[in-house]
Amino acid sequence: MRRVGGRSFLKQGFVAFPLILDHELVEWSDALKSAVCRFRRTGSTSARKRARHGGTCGVSACGRPVGTISPIRRLSKRSLATILSLLATCLPASADLIWPTPNPAFQNGESIEAYVQPTASGRVESGLFGCTRNGGSRFHEGLDLFPIKRDRRREAADPIYSVLPGRVVYVSEVAGHSSYGRYVVVEHDGEVPAYHTLYAHLASVAGGITPGARVDAGTVLGIMGRSATYAIPKSRAHLHFEIGLRLTDDFQAWFDRQPFGSPNHHGKWNGMNLVSVDPLDFYQSVRAGRVANLLDYLQQLPAAARVRVHSRAVPSFVRNFPALVTRPYEGRTVVAWDIAFTQYGLPKAWTPRFAEERLPGQPGNVRLIAYNPTLLETQTCREVVTMAGTTPTISPGTIGTIRKLFGFR
Ligand SMILES: [Zn+2]
Repeated sequence: MRRVGGRSFLKQGFVAFPLILDHELVEWSDALKSAVCRFRRTGSTSARKRARHGGTCGVSACGRPVGTISPIRRLSKRSLATILSLLATCLPASADLIWPTPNPAFQNGESIEAYVQPTASGRVESGLFGCTRNGGSRFHEGLDLFPIKRDRRREAADPIYSVLPGRVVYVSEVAGHSSYGRYVVVEHDGEVPAYHTLYAHLASVAGGITPGARVDAGTVLGIMGRSATYAIPKSRAHLHFEIGLRLTDDFQAWFDRQPFGSPNHHGKWNGMNLVSVDPLDFYQSVRAGRVANLLDYLQQLPAAARVRVHSRAVPSFVRNFPALVTRPYEGRTVVAWDIAFTQYGLPKAWTPRFAEERLPGQPGNVRLIAYNPTLLETQTCREVVTMAGTTPTISPGTIGTIRKLFGFR
């Protein structure tokens, strides 16, 4: 990655608001409406009914890919017919996506109480992704799943499965090196974009699960546990499961500029370099046939803000996930990128801007060009844009993400 040099080069440019009412923004409003709708339905009776009768679209239970006998045997003839018709239409992508634990509850359409591990608060929502903790002020970047098997010492004993075929890219065996505890990251290089899944708090990592190893959907990565840098009681052992993208391949350079007193043990697979989507919402969307893969999913997620970053660099994020770029840029002089961020800060769509467009601004300028007030006003943590006062500003968290993406100092 080319780096823009200089001290404090990152400056927020003049913030353009009120909203730029262009075509894209109109699309955002539509997406927003459907997002609110989905949110309300989550966990409701209608969602459970849909889950029961909506087919699988590639999501299966018990770590077994769709097409094996066991999950289907539990279903009625009517459900089976629905599944088969849906499979015909949505088999091509994410067809092998399976659940990461042996608990069949999600596949059986049961409520989240049947598989989600809450924090000590006991509120089941606290195990979900999003602003689910400390009264909504604290972000949880994954989905917590409890065990259905215990050994003689009452420790969790569930095997943890890779949810798709892929390649092991990182294994952290030392529990004390991360709040993830012992964790494994698998990159799904057959998917578009080539996203990763992350499996944390493991008790142990399975033999042969080392960086570079190929895995299938259903390959055992390790055993569920409660490893972390803090104490997780036996009763709350769980899998912390993430689906996401890494921000940069040059994470170490960013890390070296921070005043941290401890080394980076995890290379680019440090949690600070990973951005995620809501795993449960993704699974529900795939199962219901609303999306076929992560690209579809990201495209239908509403954007919370669009930010213009002036830089002639092509970040590693763009090279790693070219499907998120909205138009070709090869052979042209890129002077800026318009980046649409999801509600929780994932840079989901990148539009290159070219020299001949004569945009005002110079390298290092960052400008808020559109934001989604309805979405941001309901957000209680992790704001992409801070709505305090009358002037919406790009949040410190988003500025941090942009520094990692572009290598700005
Ligand atoms: Zn968690």
